[in-house]
Formats: sequence, C-alpha cells, structure tokens
Amino acid sequence: MKALQERIRQEGQILSEKVLKVDSFLNHQVDTALAVEIGKEFARLFAHEKITKVLTIEASGIQFAMATGIALGVPFVYAKKKKAITQGDVVYAASVHSFTKQETYQVTIVQSYLNKEDRILIVDDFLATGAALVGLADIVEASGATLVGVGCVIEKTFQEGRGLLEERQIPIQSLARISSMSPGHVDFIDETPL
Ligand code: 5GP
Repeated sequence: MKALQERIRQEGQILSEKVLKVDSFLNHQVDTALAVEIGKEFARLFAHEKITKVLTIEASGIQFAMATGIALGVPFVYAKKKKAITQGDVVYAASVHSFTKQETYQVTIVQSYLNKEDRILIVDDFLATGAALVGLADIVEASGATLVGVGCVIEKTFQEGRGLLEERQIPIQSLARISSMSPGHVDFIDETPL
C-alpha cells in the first residue's frame, strides 16, 4: 500500500535494526483517514472469504480491526490482555510473549464471542515474531471457528512470524513488507505502484 510505505519512510523512526517506531500515525497518534484506508484494503483483499468477524489483540490492533470490520460490515472482537472481573470465567486463553515489551502475558476472549460458524479474519498492526498472531490463531482453533487469514499492517520479513503462520497454512496479507531497515533507510518487498 503506497501511502503506507511513504508514511513509514517519512515518519518511521528506526530504533534498532529490528524495531520501528510509528507512533506519529499508527501506534499512538492515529491517522484516522489512513486507518480507514487500511481497513478498506484488508476488506478488498479478503472480500471473497465471507468473513463474519474480525479479531485482534489490544491495544494497537484495535483501530485497524475496527476499520476492517466497518468496511466488511461485520463486528470485530479484541482479545484482552488483562482479565477483567466483568469478563466471567468462560474464556479462551493463550500465552503470548511480547517482542517489544519482553514479557509473557495471557490473552483472553469470552467464549460466546467466537462460534463454530464464524469465519474469522485476524488483523494486527505488526507481524514480527508472530507470537501474538499464533496465540490468536490457537484461540480461533480452540473455538472451532474457521480462520480465513491474517492481515498485518506492517510485516518485518526478517523476523520469523510469517514462517510460523505459513507452517499452519494460514494465508497472510501484509500492506507494507519491510525487508531491511537502518536509520534513515527502509527497504520494502513488493513495493506497490498504487
Ligand atoms: P509479534 O512479535 O508477536 O509478531 O508482535 C507482537 C506485537 O509487538 C505487535 O502486534 C506490535 O504491537 C508489537 N511490535 C512488534 N514489532 C514491532 C515494531 O518493530 N514496532 C512497533 N511499534 N511494535 C512492534
């Protein structure tokens, strides 16, 4: 997605050769027009899949799952990182190790929000080690719903996430695929003309 690639080049801060900061338009302050376009693009890429629900993980996937859900005309669900007392006990849970925060946490989803009949699209901001998305994929599998694919806003292709998802035959669409980065320089795979 050309507009996204340009913003990454203009505003992305390379904190190390593996960590990209995009807080000015994606992760802290959110460019809402860009988020809407991202949602439309995921909806277009998975249009043939009869998706019934979009799934993400709090916090930074939420705006993209919402935009995708609006574009598809379906609800979105986000996995919670801290179990709230309002949530009750009947949850699906998975352990996720965070690459950026260097900690392991439990994500949970109330079971009644995922059904066997659901066709799920998972959406997230980054595909890095894949731990977050594998955790969500495990939850979808436990629920008996069908996982039709994963949409990532930014993929760092030099980390192992894609490999882990492909081992499970999960289709992946990423809107900006970074092959390498260093201060002041970002290379993309599949640089798109539009
Ligand atoms: P994972 O390693 O499980 O694929 O990524 C988990 C989460 O870590 C992503 O959803 C994203 O929120 C965060 N993350 C991973 N790599 C980066 C990065 O380079 N920059 C930022 N801002 N977040 C990242």
